[in-house]
Amino acid sequence: MKNSGKPVVDGSLCTSCGKCVAKCPLGAVVISQITSRQKSEVTHHSIELKQWKQSPHVIDEAVFRRFSEKDTIFARVQNDPDFEDYQVGIHSHLDVILKARRPGYSRIDHALSSASWTVYDHFRGAFSWSKLDHTSDAKFDAELGKSPVDKIEVDDPERTTHLVKQAARAYGAVLVGVCKLDRNWIYTHNRKGDAINIPNHIDNAIVIAVEMDLEALQTTPAYPGAFATGNGYSRMAFIQACLAEFIRSLGYDAIPAGNNLGLSVPLAIDAGLGQYGRHGLLITPEFGSNVRLCKVFTDLPLISDSPIEFGVLDFCRTCKTCAEACPSSSISYDDNPSWAGPTRSNNPGILKWYVNVESCYKYWTLNGNDCSRCIVSCPFTKNRHWSHGMTRFFIKHLPWLNRLWVKLDNWMGYGKQRNPTTFWKPEKEFIHTRKGNQ
Ligand code: SF4
Ligand code: SF4
Repeated sequence: MKNSGKPVVDGSLCTSCGKCVAKCPLGAVVISQITSRQKSEVTHHSIELKQWKQSPHVIDEAVFRRFSEKDTIFARVQNDPDFEDYQVGIHSHLDVILKARRPGYSRIDHALSSASWTVYDHFRGAFSWSKLDHTSDAKFDAELGKSPVDKIEVDDPERTTHLVKQAARAYGAVLVGVCKLDRNWIYTHNRKGDAINIPNHIDNAIVIAVEMDLEALQTTPAYPGAFATGNGYSRMAFIQACLAEFIRSLGYDAIPAGNNLGLSVPLAIDAGLGQYGRHGLLITPEFGSNVRLCKVFTDLPLISDSPIEFGVLDFCRTCKTCAEACPSSSISYDDNPSWAGPTRSNNPGILKWYVNVESCYKYWTLNGNDCSRCIVSCPFTKNRHWSHGMTRFFIKHLPWLNRLWVKLDNWMGYGKQRNPTTFWKPEKEFIHTRKGNQ
């Protein structure tokens, strides 16, 4: 309203970063149907804790049950008529969103993001439980006078583990860890409701982290940020497919998985890649939460890594930056982790911070796009500059300084949204062009 004295939002500049929603003390700023701060209502109860032997997870065994993929939020969009956003896809409001012409939400931005999922969504070989190409190995083994199904002998599992990790790195992994396959983290059923039965002889999990394009991700929740996510998923598919095929070529079984088959974060924790954060995601010492996770389950004899601890729990108690940055207020502000989350998609019985994935998903549908504000706002999510390594050292060894690091992080403006239009600026060009050929 002209001259009303009230602030107005310039729609041509707003990128829906959600900062104003999270900051307004009266909850006066809302994103469409999100009308109130949906704080995680969690139950705290006193039980005798049991720390699993050599396990970083604290489990209430009376409550904990294996989870079903049918209960994950994306499956419930398709199968749960009681869910408020039943059959409301992320792109349901796409027409309206594209017509608003906000920075980072153009047809071109959307095309970039949408196409980045191509390999993950369409290359079914990435999820195959059996060998994709028998011909070349059959020929090779025939020349050696061997049957194509012969296993290579593993007399030095340490060396084999090293080779598998090197292969994963060669295919594009930035972190690789190995753990015994804890079937508590395997889904009971897939999204369609079919039981998941990983054969008993499959006893190892190789967990792989793929780094996302941090500069692109920092434009989240605009489409270039979503490109970084989709691109990470497609590279997961590439790596998991190649690594599984590599192992099968050695004569062993390999079952690759992206987000399917089991919970990636606890498996990654078991494999020594990192720790749980308040935002429910993995925090690694090297990349913070700027990773996507995939895994390959196998019977190849391998040596397990040990879980790691580098001060994340204490830091998260102090920090809460992701909770402040979350545009849908889906992340808990509670000082301590709890035993249960607010929705059916949180499997209770594990001591951690739970995220309200229903309100998170609602924001995604209103944004027409995924969101990674919790990833980029996390002070652990940094590039590999030496100064950040030094901070991580202090976090691990001098936790009483944690409050200072949180303040400094905010003060330096780390984690705030990067202007999405910078994604297409010349410095982002990676294709060599000649004069007159542009
Ligand atoms: S992705 Fe993270 S920051 Fe974004 S709405 Fe969900 S919980 Fe909040
Ligand atoms: S932003 Fe802070 S509270 Fe949230 S996960 Fe990262 S360190 Fe923990």
